Amino acid sequence: MEVYDLVILGGGTGSTIAAWTFAGQGQRVAVVERKYIGGSCPNIACLPSKNIIHSAKVASYFRRSEEFGIAKRDFTVDMEGVRTRKRNMVRALNEAYLDNYEKTGAELILGSGRFISPKTLEVTFADGRNRRLRGKNVIVGTGTHAALGAIPGLAEAQPLTHIEALELDKTPGRVIVISGGYIGLEFSQALRRLGSKVTIVARDGRLLPGEDEDISEALRDLFLDEGVDLVMNAEVKRISGKSGDSVRVLLEKNGGPKTLEGTHLLAAMGRVPNTDGIGLELASVEVTGSGYIKVNERLQTTAPGVWAIGEVAGSPQFTHVSIDDFRIVHANLTGGSRVTTGRQVPFCLFTDPEFARVGLSENEATARGIAYRLFKTPMEANLRARTLTETRGFLKALVEAGTDRILGFTAFGVGGGEIMTSVQIAMNAGLPYTALRDAILTHPTLVEGLIPLFSAVPSAHAAAGVAKASA
Ligand SMILES: Cc1cc2nc3c(=O)[nH]c(=O)nc-3n(C[C@H](O)[C@H](O)[C@H](O)COP(=O)(O)OP(=O)(O)OC[C@H]3O[C@@H](n4cnc5c(N)ncnc54)[C@H](O)[C@@H]3O)c2cc1C
Repeated sequence: MEVYDLVILGGGTGSTIAAWTFAGQGQRVAVVERKYIGGSCPNIACLPSKNIIHSAKVASYFRRSEEFGIAKRDFTVDMEGVRTRKRNMVRALNEAYLDNYEKTGAELILGSGRFISPKTLEVTFADGRNRRLRGKNVIVGTGTHAALGAIPGLAEAQPLTHIEALELDKTPGRVIVISGGYIGLEFSQALRRLGSKVTIVARDGRLLPGEDEDISEALRDLFLDEGVDLVMNAEVKRISGKSGDSVRVLLEKNGGPKTLEGTHLLAAMGRVPNTDGIGLELASVEVTGSGYIKVNERLQTTAPGVWAIGEVAGSPQFTHVSIDDFRIVHANLTGGSRVTTGRQVPFCLFTDPEFARVGLSENEATARGIAYRLFKTPMEANLRARTLTETRGFLKALVEAGTDRILGFTAFGVGGGEIMTSVQIAMNAGLPYTALRDAILTHPTLVEGLIPLFSAVPSAHAAAGVAKASA
């Protein structure tokens, strides 16, 4: 039995930063990770997907070249080259992470871990060897994996998940994407731009149905303009064939059957927590009905000295939240007090253009009966967007009625994530919207577009929305 101050099961982003930080502060720390140095984000999720999305953006520029006055030449997409660029980035990140493990003194143990008793893990290596580790504290950050729904024939069709989709060495001919969510949307646009025919099959009537309608509509228009087929309000009933060869998807739409045919199937149907088979019951760590680890607002599990962070703890599914979860555990282990309750979670969908939001949407404000003034301008009002010929989309902000407090901000437009972050910083600093309106912002930047936004006359929709909520 080897004894550590801190043992971490699963080496995602929050876990990795926890290891480096605690080790840097003199603790003896071990991270048990079965496959990915740094976890999902740098290997199979955020960063490789954004890398490939950028290659797809370059392909889109080639296709649009005449708009920019550049003579159009034939071009080909070399998926092996796309993959090599992505692999090089991932390799460099892995090396940088290993370097940091060495610098901080945290130990990375590449093996599969499971609890065998309270605060005690057994690690099994590929060659069958074992090690047993006991931590004064233990953090579980085992993340989630792609869900494959119980659709007859789905598992047999061996669909692509994000993992395989990021390793393609040939452009798929015709991809059927089962998903109307974030991951499916990002991949659909990228694959289309890289040359695939793409059909999205979604159960709801609109894309991202939890968001405001103007966002769903803008996304629908974007996808249709890019030549992605949308099959909405559809229930997948059965799948036959094999992805990579040929697949048939039988679905029900408007009460009638419909069949889609494709070469590849991409399943982006949600996530399942990695809690099965890791001995949580032997360590008194309880899980929820849907299999996530039960935690309180400090991210303590039901077992003393055992903490859970990131997706496996049921936290919002973003890397920046995995990092914030680490901060919460760190604060609570070092005499501070920090909680998950009420925290602000911004996000960005990395379609082109991006959709980013922080704070309240109109739907949320309306549902809570919060009165607001709505500021909304098209991206055409953003002069930098005009210089780029990227004027699709809009910016909108909700400002509290009766005060100048910014309640929420949404961007659907080029650089949306960066513009949103500027507003988020103002919100965090408690600045009124007038501080952005009246600032001297560099011309022509995308963030400068906040001046026309906050100078616009607020729309009457807001009052109507609140009246509806209070009726
Ligand atoms: C395609 C895709 C794109 C995404 N894009 C974004 C984005 O742009 N921005 C964003 O913020 N978020 C994005 N996300 C979400 C983001 O990747 C996750 O929220 C984040 O990585 C979760 O981190 P985590 O620490 O919870 O778990 P993970 O990073 O998943 O880490 C868990 C680790 O635990 C390991 N593990 C599991 N079980 C064991 C075991 N028994 N023994 C040893 N090791 C084990 C796994 O191998 C894994 O490495 C994306 C996700 C996907 C799938």
